[in-house]
Amino acid sequence: MIELQQLTKRHRAGDVETTALDAIDLHIEAGEYLAVTGPSGCGKSTLLGLLGLLDRPTSGRYLLEGEDVTQHPERQLAAIRRGRIGFVFQSFNLVDEMTVAANVQLALRYGPLPEKAQRLRVAEVLERLGLSHRAAHHPSQLSGGQQQRVAIARAIAARPALLLADEPTGNLDSAHGSEVMRLLRELNDEGTTLVMVTHSAEHAALASRTVRLLDGRVLVDATVAA
Ligand code: ADP
Ligand code: ADP
Repeated sequence: MIELQQLTKRHRAGDVETTALDAIDLHIEAGEYLAVTGPSGCGKSTLLGLLGLLDRPTSGRYLLEGEDVTQHPERQLAAIRRGRIGFVFQSFNLVDEMTVAANVQLALRYGPLPEKAQRLRVAEVLERLGLSHRAAHHPSQLSGGQQQRVAIARAIAARPALLLADEPTGNLDSAHGSEVMRLLRELNDEGTTLVMVTHSAEHAALASRTVRLLDGRVLVDATVAA
């Protein structure tokens, strides 16, 4: 599903250039559940940003489902992001001026579904995450665990093949963190390819494969026997 070839990303801040990813080769099969770990600054977020087409590599190639997306214009990248990639962030990134249902529907706004089908899909996904009774609430009225479930609902509403999660349990207590981890596992069991950045060794152990980065390189790439 994903093929990274000699992928390099350098960030420039003033005169200082940092090599965040250094010629990474990585192959991710459809249906994999990959945990990305490593110390702060090793390149995890940069990798997720590149995988999610939020950022471009400095050099190297990124093949997504066989398609070289490295040189695609932004408009084309945006279309791929909306239709095929879901994002879950540590900070939820919900819009508090909107209801829970409206937040989830945002993910469908530029998609192929007409308005009525969008609403049905939103209701369906909220039901699935146990949030139907919160549809008309605003994010700030919900607990952290519920807010993260709303964020997951939004991320999966368009039924993306690839789900990217950056420290999805980072702002949650351990009970809600476990709940979110269960949910991610379930989505992966249903076929969604999942790439999750995590500091938690315990959560990384739930993935089927762990890639450990150090200084922008892959230090360990370990697949767990099922
Ligand atoms: P991690 O997510 O593992 O903490 P990052 O991918 O955020 O690592 O960062 C990798 C390296 O790139 C770090 O040295 C970081 O300081 C640097 N970096 C990340 N983003 C930027 C940026 N936008 N501008 C400049 N340097 C950056
Ligand atoms: P709070 O965050 O306020 O403690 P919870 O997030 O634990 O509330 O969940 C509120 C309600 O939603 C509970 O009744 C819980 O059983 C239910 N619930 C939680 N997660 C799910 C889920 N993934 N699917 C269905 N129902 C859920």
